[in-house]
Amino acid sequence: MKAEIIAVGTELLLGNTVNTNATFLAQRLQECGVESYRQVVVGDNITRIADAIKSALSNDIILICGGLGPTGDDVTRDAVALAAGKKLYEDQVCRQKVSDYINKAGTPLTENNFRQALLPEGAVVLHNENGSAESFYLDINNTRVYVLPGPPRELKPIFDKYIAPEISGESVLVKRQLRLFGIWESALETKIAHYTHDLANPSVGIYASHGGVMLQVTARAKTLNEAENMLVPVVDELCDILGDDVYGIDVDNIEHAVVNLLTKQGKKLAVAESCTGGLIAKRIVDRPGASAVFDCGVVSYSNDIKNKVLGVSKETLEKYGAVSSQTAAEMAQGILNLSGADIAVSVTGIAGPDGGTPEKPVGTVWYGIADKNGVKTFKNVVSRDGADRNYIREYSASYALNLVRKHLSCV
Ligand code: AMP
Ligand code: MG
Repeated sequence: MKAEIIAVGTELLLGNTVNTNATFLAQRLQECGVESYRQVVVGDNITRIADAIKSALSNDIILICGGLGPTGDDVTRDAVALAAGKKLYEDQVCRQKVSDYINKAGTPLTENNFRQALLPEGAVVLHNENGSAESFYLDINNTRVYVLPGPPRELKPIFDKYIAPEISGESVLVKRQLRLFGIWESALETKIAHYTHDLANPSVGIYASHGGVMLQVTARAKTLNEAENMLVPVVDELCDILGDDVYGIDVDNIEHAVVNLLTKQGKKLAVAESCTGGLIAKRIVDRPGASAVFDCGVVSYSNDIKNKVLGVSKETLEKYGAVSSQTAAEMAQGILNLSGADIAVSVTGIAGPDGGTPEKPVGTVWYGIADKNGVKTFKNVVSRDGADRNYIREYSASYALNLVRKHLSCV
């Protein structure tokens, strides 16, 4: 089965809105065993949308998203009718739904709202529980044209509830995502070249993702069990080869892995941050479930606060400087003592663009990890070209979280 995705919206063409619907739909099509042949973006223009539909009619299905709003600029339903040579009519069930939805939302109902009750003749409604615009499909010749609303929170459930079951092929696709930190894409490929080059099913793909790398292993088979059985040995072998560089499987990011480990071990984390300025705390608190595992964070940016709040000694600060192993150690120990946490991490570094010296260039960052057994420090220098203040801070936060993850994995 072949498919084409047509995303409608002038805001997409202008680059004001990222076309995340196409990403979502393409991933889902793959999972359903449907081949994606082409993706198109069209502005809000009846003729151009209709032309895009007509030139996609060699596919078995077309997924159109966007342009179902109540205002005059949203013309997808008109364009579908034009491409199909059908008239639009006002569907009474849709009209009732629109008015119920708008009344419930407590917003004024205006005549243009009822544009959303217009359907091309022959359309079949796919009920949208999360918005006023109904989704629908219409068969044009041998092509089923699915028309979906633009807002992702409306589009996703409609696809999963109505479209996926209808188009799923005879095979199922299973995937596992291995996330890595501390290894470059190129070095990774060298280590696992056999897997990325020679395997077709399961296949292994390498993708750089913010400050790390993601390895995606996918297997396709007739049944879920069969696909799982093909996938598991490859995932196990990759984990053996890559060892500690893999920070998690099917996790979103390092903080996700850290929160999972803390939860599993019933431990709490405290953080003392200088150059990351609260990024680590923010990223932990972004995760649902953080309240059970996060104790506190102190942004001790000035030396004065490092001393007064965390108890870093003035002698240490004077003798070794704020960016030093000794300061990182005392910050970690200080926040551990201050809090009721089981593990503490500290970060102190030079994010630049100023403040670097030949001994401590911009990008030099010290970290401390403290628990009841003592404190350890680590140093990393972010030296890649183009690493600006923002990159250094984000990378340092990831580095610190990865140290916590490694420490928790060892105990
Ligand atoms: P529309 O149905 O065209 O009125 O779109 C409503 C809203 O959905 C837009 O304002 C965008 O925020 C969002 N949207 C539309 N198309 C897309 C898309 N392809 N990807 C992500 N968001 C979208
Ligand atoms: Mg629009």
